[in-house]
Amino acid sequence: MSASAPWSERRENRVTVHASCHTCGGPWGFTNLLVSKLPDGRIQFDPHATGCCTVTIEEDAARTVMNALAKWLG
Ligand SMILES: [Zn+2]
Repeated sequence: MSASAPWSERRENRVTVHASCHTCGGPWGFTNLLVSKLPDGRIQFDPHATGCCTVTIEEDAARTVMNALAKWLG
């Protein structure tokens, strides 16, 4: 996928959910947590969807998170 790909195609590798940041405060859901799959397969979490501070994990770590969430959410 290139940077010139249509927006709808670029969005297939991204999801944004409402969240809360305990560092910044504010009401529940005031911030957007952007989760993206990078071209190399790693998963990146951008807690404010600003790119200022991101957390990137390898595929194995992402599967660990996925399995934990599946167990917790049933
Ligand atoms: Zn914050």
